[in-house]
Amino acid sequence: MSEYASGSNITDSTPSMTECYENYVLVDVGANLTNKKYSRDLDSVVQRAKDAGVQKIMVTGASIRSSKEALRLTRIYPGNLYSTAGVHPHDAKSWQDPETLEELETIAKNPECVAIGECGLDYNKDFSEPIIQRSVFEKQVELACTLNKPLVIHERGAQADVLEILNRHTDQIPPVLIHSFIGTAEEAQIYLNHGYYLGLTGYVCKDKSDSGVRQLLEGGQISLDKILIETDAPFMYPNTRASKLPTHVKDALTERSTTFLQRYCTFQRNEPCALPAIVEMVAAFMHKTPEEVALATAFNALKIFGLNQ
Ligand SMILES: [Zn+2]
Repeated sequence: MSEYASGSNITDSTPSMTECYENYVLVDVGANLTNKKYSRDLDSVVQRAKDAGVQKIMVTGASIRSSKEALRLTRIYPGNLYSTAGVHPHDAKSWQDPETLEELETIAKNPECVAIGECGLDYNKDFSEPIIQRSVFEKQVELACTLNKPLVIHERGAQADVLEILNRHTDQIPPVLIHSFIGTAEEAQIYLNHGYYLGLTGYVCKDKSDSGVRQLLEGGQISLDKILIETDAPFMYPNTRASKLPTHVKDALTERSTTFLQRYCTFQRNEPCALPAIVEMVAAFMHKTPEEVALATAFNALKIFGLNQ
């Protein structure tokens, strides 16, 4: 606990660290900052993110309760935190007609709430019946169309059904982010063909397959204008020490980003200050500079979600 309790400012002790990202903003498009793991030291977490160059963070809503809480946090950190409002597929069974939709709409109408989601389908963990998941997902797709707010979609083992539901609304569909993408390069291509964006996380360290996210990045099959970067904190810790991580990717990590990672992030609790390390690794896989990736992905985030209030 003490590891997280300090509010120490990393830039005080390491002045060289201010140089790297100061000329542009990094945006974390998905952090679960309403998670109880942050209840004791959220100020420090947000400050560390800023020190790491992460100027804007979208706080994920995954239930009515967490969507309300995420909106509340945007009021405490205006211009810095934004929120999303949605009911996660795990929680689909909690949906009540018509109250849940009404509550979601009330939250989502606020300008600080910049997207509908997480919503979607998760067939890997059947916490809610697939038939209920589909109906709850479609109601949120309709809400996103009505409010014209982007969709943040969680999909695990359910691509065909996600696409089928989205395809029913193609006329009015807002921008779609497939958040925390961990599928195959082939699945990625299908999403990209639909014009959807992919959210990449610390999973780039974990992917050991030769047909997954790494291959997607290395093979040049995805262009920077379709990528968004997110920590999905406290989950998806980028384990930069993973043995399968190629040497050229490990070597691309700067002292600055690894210092934030090693001081403040663990498998138990990842933080938005891990974002620069993810940007650097994505850049290395794509044989681009981290500056290019940071600039392009931040631009995508600002374009899709607004984030200017
Ligand atoms: Zn998710």
